[in-house]
Amino acid sequence: MSSDLHIHTTASDGQYAPEKILSMARQAGLRYIAITDHDNVDGLRNLYEAGMLPGHGMRVIPGIEFSAQNTEHEVHILGYDIDIYDKNLSDSLNDIVEARWTRFSKMVENLRGLGYGITEADVLKIAGMSKAISRPHIARALVEKGLFPSVSAAFDAVLAKGRPAYEEHYRMEAADIIKCIKDAGGIPVLAHPKLIGDDILVERLLQLGMEGIEAFYPRHNAADVERYKALAEKYGILISGGSDFHGPSIREPLELGIFTIEDKYAEKFYREEDI
Ligand code: AMP
Ligand code: MN
Ligand code: MN
Ligand code: MN
Repeated sequence: MSSDLHIHTTASDGQYAPEKILSMARQAGLRYIAITDHDNVDGLRNLYEAGMLPGHGMRVIPGIEFSAQNTEHEVHILGYDIDIYDKNLSDSLNDIVEARWTRFSKMVENLRGLGYGITEADVLKIAGMSKAISRPHIARALVEKGLFPSVSAAFDAVLAKGRPAYEEHYRMEAADIIKCIKDAGGIPVLAHPKLIGDDILVERLLQLGMEGIEAFYPRHNAADVERYKALAEKYGILISGGSDFHGPSIREPLELGIFTIEDKYAEKFYREEDI
């Protein structure tokens, strides 16, 4: 059996609904999965309220992915085994989600200023019920309008940090995110450290009280995995990993179950009594 601790759904910028993710994961034979949507836990709440958690044999870890404030680097922090009804967590997430809406309007306006014929309605059609309106929704709308050949082409040209349509949005400080996750009973884990692009910053982030590091990740090579496993050892923290699956229209990996980790890592993040 194998596991995947980093999966997105339509509750944020993923392509498949939470229910669909559960059936795909079951089909792929996964044992432990974590749903880790950006800035919200709506997908998990809906599953729970529909009686679909616990996962009938498959072990579903309630998770979240935050983006931390940083002027230079993309710093993402995962939270595992959180209480999805924690009041303080909900309040913090609501502030972030609100800021995403303002930023979304600004980015659409920027694109129109650059001559791309796109409206908020075009993006909203794609975003559907997503709570966390995100750049991949905008990118998919641009692709659907025939303005770019792919989501990644749209990112490269206009949506990536530093590109002309990009806007910042309110993010919490890394230390506050770690506290918020811990206060909600969760385990804070530094996401895809290689993508941060600065291992000195990676260590500084670990020293803030991180309890795990995502050593296994599709874009980590064997040497990266070893380096981050060694950091886990150095700081006495857990090793995690996942595919960061969003769906084939958005980014690689193209299927659930292609990139997995061994259950012995995943089981450390699962506590039966949580859900
Ligand atoms: P946002 O949270 O709105 O700033 O959007 C960031 C999200 O965009 C990340 O979580 C990724 O899923 C996605 N993303 C970032 N860069 C790319 C890229 N080059 N191609 C496709 N998706 C990307
Ligand atoms: Mn994403
Ligand atoms: Mn991320
Ligand atoms: Mn992610």
